[in-house]
Parts: sequence; structure tokens; C-alpha cells
Amino acid sequence: EQKYNRVATPVMFDSAILHSLNEKEKLKIGLEQALEKRQLRLEFQPIVDIKQQKILSFEALARWKFNDIDVPPAIFIELAEKQGLIVEIGEWVLVQACLSASRWQMQQNAGVSVNISTHQLLHVNFIRSVQHALTVSGLAPEKLNLEITETVFCGDIDQARKALQEVKTLGVTIAIDDFGTGYSSLSQIEQLPVNCIKVDRHFVSNLAANGGVILRATNMMAKEMALQIVAEGVETEHQKQFLQNLGIHALQGFFFSKPLPESAVGDYALTQTLTSSENTVAPELAK
Ligand code: C2E
Ligand code: MG
Ligand code: MG
Ligand code: MG
Repeated sequence: EQKYNRVATPVMFDSAILHSLNEKEKLKIGLEQALEKRQLRLEFQPIVDIKQQKILSFEALARWKFNDIDVPPAIFIELAEKQGLIVEIGEWVLVQACLSASRWQMQQNAGVSVNISTHQLLHVNFIRSVQHALTVSGLAPEKLNLEITETVFCGDIDQARKALQEVKTLGVTIAIDDFGTGYSSLSQIEQLPVNCIKVDRHFVSNLAANGGVILRATNMMAKEMALQIVAEGVETEHQKQFLQNLGIHALQGFFFSKPLPESAVGDYALTQTLTSSENTVAPELAK
């Protein structure tokens, strides 16, 4: 009987695609047309402060549905960088994220965090594109947070510093994403006008194995440097508790919420999540 009851399930991305030249070519051409064909959209995942019991921000995460397949952002963002499409896609993300955040201001006072590729940051149009997104959306600059990655230290660091200083002057805040996975050290981060570091989820998932030694050390240094610290990839009550005991209160991960469509952002409430026993793993993610 089961087969008469089928629901449409999304087709999983098969990484074999990347080994077939033909399929890879289709993916490239597809990505070139993704914007005009309106195949890109954003989801938003809350970053919460469990001490202040509030939602700090929602991270905008790009989604691409191509021929009914959800292509993972790790794949298509890298492809966009290689194809020279990341600036255009990144500008679209910035505008859409700011527009969404300005709409949810009625229900959620939270800001929006936008991932910025290093190519995009170093592009001549970068500051203008940030200003443009703020202007068209009417979003207060203080509500916009930009997440850059450690690859910024492999490029033109003076240009990066200049660009970041300019956007910071607008009131926008800056975070270093996936901290600890790249080549940067906290002393390098001191060269950039950064407000926050997001410790990579790898260090959260390894908590049990290593007793959180990296998290402990990073947390201490971040506090010394007056930087905010966010832990990403929190999936379990145990991890939440561990981070809380370390004094890390700004958290993000499936334990609190999976990334949500904009329509669900307004209804997201932190207290519900914290008292619910059902959300240790979001059902959609458990399969
Ligand atoms: P990221 O910026 O580090 O984003 C967090 C990623 O971790 C997201 O993956 C999110 O869905 C996932 N995640 C959140 N909580 C958990 C958890 O508890 N456990 C696990 N295992 N994963 C969790 P996603 O959406 O697949 O994005 C992957 C990466 O793609 C992002 O990593 C970011 O580097 C990049 N990306 C996504 N959207 C954009 C964009 O608009 N622009 C740029 N430049 N990069 C983007
Ligand atoms: Mg990020
Ligand atoms: Mg991250
Ligand atoms: Mg990450």
C-alpha cells in the first residue's frame, strides 16, 4: 500500500555529478542562469543568546534547486567563485537578506548575518553593494552582520582591511566564520576590524572527545580581545550545556532550529525551542 501513498521527496545531490564532465558542464551553465530563472532562495537559521534568552540574528543561507535537485551551497558557492559568478550572486544574497530582515523587524528584533566570499569582499563594488542593500531595504546597518572566512588572510589583506573598515563605519558588524579551520590565528584577526568569531562546528562536535580544549582557549582569548564568540553546529542538549558552562552563550545549530524559510522566521521563538524535547534532531534532518 505504501507505494500508492508516495509523497514527493526531494532528490538528493549525487556528488558523482562532479566527476562527470558532462554533468559538471550542465551544472555550470545552470548556475549562470540560476538568478534569472529564480532558482535561488534563502533560508535563515537563528543565532541565539541563551543567557539573555534572545535571538541575536538569523544567518542567511543560499539554496539552489536545479532540475529538482537541491545542490548543496558548499558545491555551488565554490563553483560560483570559479565561474566568476560569486559577485553577482553575493549581491543578490545581500539585497534579499536585508529585504527579509527589514520585513521581519515587525516580529523579530533580530539582525541578519550574511556570508561574504573573499572574492566579493575584495571586489571594487563591495562597499557600494552593501550600501545599496541597506538603502533598498531600509534596514538599519546595525542589524546587518557580515561573515567572512579565514581565506581572507590568503588574499590582499590591506584591501580587505580597508573594505571592512568602510562597512564598519556604516555601523555594520563583522564576524570571522568557521574559525579554527583555516590558517588564521587570533593575532592575525587583530589586524582586521572584527567584532565576532564563529568557532567552527567541528570543535563543537568534538567536544566529547577533546574536552573542549580548543573552545576553552579560543573563548579565553576572544574575551581578552573583547570579541564576541559564537559556537556553531550545536546539535545536542549536552553540547549546549557544555558551552554554557564554558561561558559561551551565543549559539547556533540544529538543536535550536534548522535553517527556516522567511515565512517561519517571524514565528520562531527561542523559549519554545529550549523547552521542547522533540527538536534534538529536526525530523527532516534525521533521515
Ligand atoms: P556556514 O556559513 O558555516 O553556515 C553554516 C552551515 O552549517 C550551514 O550549511 C548550516 O545549514 C549548517 N548547520 C547549521 N547548524 C548545524 C548543525 O547543528 N549541524 C550541522 N552538521 N550543520 C549545521 P549550508 O547551508 O549547507 O551552507 C554551507 C556553507 O556554504 C556555509 O557555511 C557558507 O560557507 C556557504 N554559504 C551558504 N550560503 C552562502 C552565501 O549566500 N554566500 C556565501 N559566500 N557562502 C554561502
Ligand atoms: Mg556562515
Ligand atoms: Mg560557519
Ligand atoms: Mg561552518
